[in-house]
Amino acid sequence: MKFTPVKTPIVAKKLFPNYTWDIATTEKELYLTFDDGPTPEITNWALDTLKSYDAKATFFCIGKNVEEHPMIFQNIIKNGHRIGNHTQNHIKGWSTKTTDYLKEVDDAQFAINATYNSFQNNYDSKFKNPKSSIIKPFRPPYGQITPHQGKQLIANGYDIIMWDVLSFDWELDVSEEKCFENVVSKSRPGSIVVFHDSVKASKNMMYALPKVLDFFSGKGFVFKAI
Ligand SMILES: [Zn+2]
Repeated sequence: MKFTPVKTPIVAKKLFPNYTWDIATTEKELYLTFDDGPTPEITNWALDTLKSYDAKATFFCIGKNVEEHPMIFQNIIKNGHRIGNHTQNHIKGWSTKTTDYLKEVDDAQFAINATYNSFQNNYDSKFKNPKSSIIKPFRPPYGQITPHQGKQLIANGYDIIMWDVLSFDWELDVSEEKCFENVVSKSRPGSIVVFHDSVKASKNMMYALPKVLDFFSGKGFVFKAI
């Protein structure tokens, strides 16, 4: 991952035009995303922090974590955020057969839907997301997905959400300040920004997230779910 750029090059976006890399807009909008949760302590902290800035985001959940932490998953939805699929066990697409990869995605979607449905009665209608049954956001772990896997998932109704800016919050040799700077220096209107609600990324994410929210709120940006 050392060679992965903070800002996704235009050539990568053009090579895979069927994937979503950013949201086309001239409005001051940012699309924060959080991968790898739900995680005890971390996800709820992120939810509280987002709430204090009236910010919405998209959480790409690992199916196994949804099954282990259904109450945290419920909190994400109750706070009005969007849920995305991040496979059942956080697997690497390039070293996984397409049939196995599709099953991983299906298993995660089953976990997401089953957990969501088990709480249906607890939700206010404003928390129900009619889009979720039609287009399903999916983000490949490690950004690894083969063209064949991508094509199959799109045919199955998934919208493959990549990113415009990586915070590098998970990288232990990236400082908190650098993590913040990565996001601030590279984000533009419509940028999809990657954070992680994981234990590993928490040191950098917990430092950078409030500062990112503060910085861009001060410039008149709003934070939206995909
Ligand atoms: Zn991940």
